[in-house]
Amino acid sequence: GSLPGWEAVERLVLDAHRDALAVSDGVVADYIPRLAQVDPELFGVSVAEVDGAVHTAGDAHVAFSIQSISKAFVYALVCEELGHTAVRERVGVNNTGLAFNSVVAIELNGGHPMNPMVNAGAIATTALVPAASPEERWGRIQDGLSAFAGRRLELDGEVYTSEADTNQRNRAIGTLLEAYGRIDTDPLAAVDVYTRQCSLLVTAADLAVMGATLADGGVNPVTGDRVVSASVARDTLAVLASTGLYERSGEWLFEIGLPGKSGVAGGIVTVSPGKGGIGVFSPRLDSAGNSVRGQRATRYLSRALGLDVFASE
Ligand code: GLN
Repeated sequence: GSLPGWEAVERLVLDAHRDALAVSDGVVADYIPRLAQVDPELFGVSVAEVDGAVHTAGDAHVAFSIQSISKAFVYALVCEELGHTAVRERVGVNNTGLAFNSVVAIELNGGHPMNPMVNAGAIATTALVPAASPEERWGRIQDGLSAFAGRRLELDGEVYTSEADTNQRNRAIGTLLEAYGRIDTDPLAAVDVYTRQCSLLVTAADLAVMGATLADGGVNPVTGDRVVSASVARDTLAVLASTGLYERSGEWLFEIGLPGKSGVAGGIVTVSPGKGGIGVFSPRLDSAGNSVRGQRATRYLSRALGLDVFASE
């Protein structure tokens, strides 16, 4: 089946926002200094349907940096270019069970980055975007993520500078991948492009449309543009199901029953294949770096809209 009628979805998005607003657990990320300055009360919820309808509640039009959610969409772009098998071999599809910025995960796996949704795999994936220079690679990523969103996405220069000044750990990950022969371009240039992609500004409504593009077999339902093939959209969702919320991916799938991807600025995108995308934004995070209110609102919507892929009724 599809989603309930327009009015019903509209009301449930408002209900999900109101329900999760009662929760104020979690802490705003501060390892990227600029992120610590955000208003922790901001909270937006959005649902985009595959027919192009977009529903919003709260601060759904407030911009924040996409952070790790970019990993899902850059992965899709690279799959489109290189294909299922090559990307699977180079980057992998298995959960590390460890934090998103783990160096130990690389060491434990003989230098393999494991999956594209942790930093190691994401940096390796960014390095795979075909381009003659880092500038061209960045341009392709900015264009590609903008196509998913259906509008031009811009960089937050303050977030970028703040992370670039403090991302010693990601630089170490990039260099470690190079030492293991897992990256073919300049690793520090790849980390820099990765840091830029993480600094792109989106809203909860943008995330819903980006998710709906994956739900709609790679066609943006608002613009009508094909961004990736249906098989790439499918592959991306399969990876998100097992790795999208880092070491909490199992709990997420158990509670929500849908592929999703979180970022440390407080965004989460969730995809209901064939139906639509959910975008949420609330900066307070759990200890794995996932938005607390965002998880609650998404769970509410998954249940209320009947989206859980494992539910038979
Ligand atoms: N840019 C952030 C980092 O690399 C993204 C992390 C995240 O959103 N989990 O640390």
